[in-house]
Amino acid sequence: MAETETAPGAQQFIPPQADTLDDLRAAATGCRGCELYRAASQTVFGRGDASARVVFVGEQPGDMEDQKGLPFVGPAGRLLRRAVDDAGLDPGHIYLTNAVKHFRFELRGKRRIHQTPDRVHITACRPWLVAEFAQLNPEVVVVLGATAAKALLGPTFRVTRQRGELLPWPASAQHPEDFQQVPVDSAGRTTDVPPARLLATIHPSAVLRADNQDVAYDGLVADLTIAARALAG
Ligand code: SF4
Repeated sequence: MAETETAPGAQQFIPPQADTLDDLRAAATGCRGCELYRAASQTVFGRGDASARVVFVGEQPGDMEDQKGLPFVGPAGRLLRRAVDDAGLDPGHIYLTNAVKHFRFELRGKRRIHQTPDRVHITACRPWLVAEFAQLNPEVVVVLGATAAKALLGPTFRVTRQRGELLPWPASAQHPEDFQQVPVDSAGRTTDVPPARLLATIHPSAVLRADNQDVAYDGLVADLTIAARALAG
């Protein structure tokens, strides 16, 4: 598929008065910010509680997520849940979302084969991520893989080089000002985000694709254990 060069972006679909994640989730069902909505079944918005201590940001929904309308419910999501448990993170304190909210794929026969989102999709969808963070107040942000890293940290960040490193959040974001405030009440009053941490690691689907899945899995758990210790510290 040829790379799409422009897209109107999601900003115009975000209600200015949205003050809950549910408001955003409802509005995102009608997003036409890029062409990905046409072939996908539905928008797959983030899930979890606004008070989550850890926010995971992945790439995009997969085939199963697209059918169910929920993030991280396919094979990679199952693996991530196991890794979260093994790392000692509390699954009740987690919010899960993706950098791009529609499934990008190509058809081969009847099969829908995952395609990595282009930069235009990441840029078009980023306003949803910014709007989600405006409702969240995590202590740790976990970036899963290169697409999420591009969305939050910019195109020069290399997960392979910096995985497992605790970075300041939101100071390490590409445009930290986008993530610097959270609303404190329904009247829309905002406050500065207290300092938090960000940690990048591989996407759980990379574990499923790895030649040595045990080694890749152990690496993912080791990185998540650093996130768990940062919460405890
Ligand atoms: S991928 Fe994002 S920007 Fe594109 S249509 Fe879906 S929600 Fe909107």
